[in-house]
This record gives sequence, structure tokens and C-alpha cells, in this order.
Amino acid sequence: MKRLKARIRDIPDFPKPGIVFKDITPLVKDPSALRLAIHQLLHPFLGEDLTAVVGMEARGFIFGSLVAWELGVGFIPLRKPGKLPYDVQSISYDLEYGSASLEVHVDALGKEDRVLMIDDVLATGGTASASCALVEKLGAEIAACAFVIELDTLQGRKQLGNRRIHSLLHYQD
Ligand code: AMP
Repeated sequence: MKRLKARIRDIPDFPKPGIVFKDITPLVKDPSALRLAIHQLLHPFLGEDLTAVVGMEARGFIFGSLVAWELGVGFIPLRKPGKLPYDVQSISYDLEYGSASLEVHVDALGKEDRVLMIDDVLATGGTASASCALVEKLGAEIAACAFVIELDTLQGRKQLGNRRIHSLLHYQD
């Protein structure tokens, strides 16, 4: 995991003062670190009966689609409002300041699906818990949520209740 942490770049005060942004671009640029991250993300789920991977715009698309490829299942994008061309189901959720929404195509998932959700960072947990609720609105089951990075001090996992969570890297700063 030290090899992965060495490829995460801290950007202080981005996108606003007081936030330390965890920049994953050095990690995804390095082929061996990227391969290691993808294998570590999917490892606990090998052999499980999953039907799809769901990823949140935008960095969840990078990790989620590679995990889906390796698991041999499809990838479902959760997108910011107004991006998806067909009928959508949507969910709004609170951010520290203001609110945000995510959308998914209504026919993307159904009650026969058991999905793995992937994002780069679990921070306050608002995005991940809303994403779980959106997937469940379509009748699908969330098998687990997996993250490259978990910011422990923000206690995002509390938002996810008793859901199964797999995080590769933990930060306490
Ligand atoms: P949250 O809803 O607070 O858990 O925030 C999670 C979402 O915001 C993820 O999609 C992350 O990509 C992004 N995010 C939140 N905090 C950070 C951070 N410190 N560094 C990088 N991305 C972050």
C-alpha cells in the first residue's frame, strides 16, 4: 500500500481553502500502481455473484470501468444532471455548502442486479450514500462499496450504515 500512497499527491486548499485534495492522477499515470490499485479494489469480490459495477462521475469512472472489465461484468455510470440522454432516475443530496444530484438511466439496473459501487475518495459519505440510494431506487442490491482512499476523520462510513466497505488507503490528516 506504500507504493500506492506514494502515488497520491496532496494539493492543499483545492478546490477551496481548508480542503486537502487527494490527486489520483499520478497513480493512474503509473501502469504498475494502477494495476495494483485495480487488483486490490476487486480482490475481496472475486468469485462473488456480481452483475455490474457502478461508478460516480468522474473519477469513479476510471477505477470502476477497469474493475468491471477485470470482473467480467458491465459498468454503469452515475452522472451529473443533464448528461444522460435517455430517461433517468435521479437523487439529490446535501453537500457542505448547497446540494448536488446524480442521475442514472432508468433501464441501467433492476431487481436482478447485485452491484459493486466504486469511487476514488470516501470523504463525508454524502456522494456514496446517495449513490447507494439511487441504485436501490432501481431495485438493485448494493453488494459493497469500494474506495481507493478513505478520509477517516470525516467519518463517511457512518453515512453508509452497515453496508460492506472496502478502502485501500486510509488517511487521518
Ligand atoms: P463526499 O460526498 O464528501 O464523501 O465526497 C466524495 C466525492 O467528492 C468523491 O466523488 C470524491 O471524488 C470527491 N472528494 C471529496 N473530498 C475529496 C478530497 N479531499 N480529495 C479528492 N476528492 C475528494
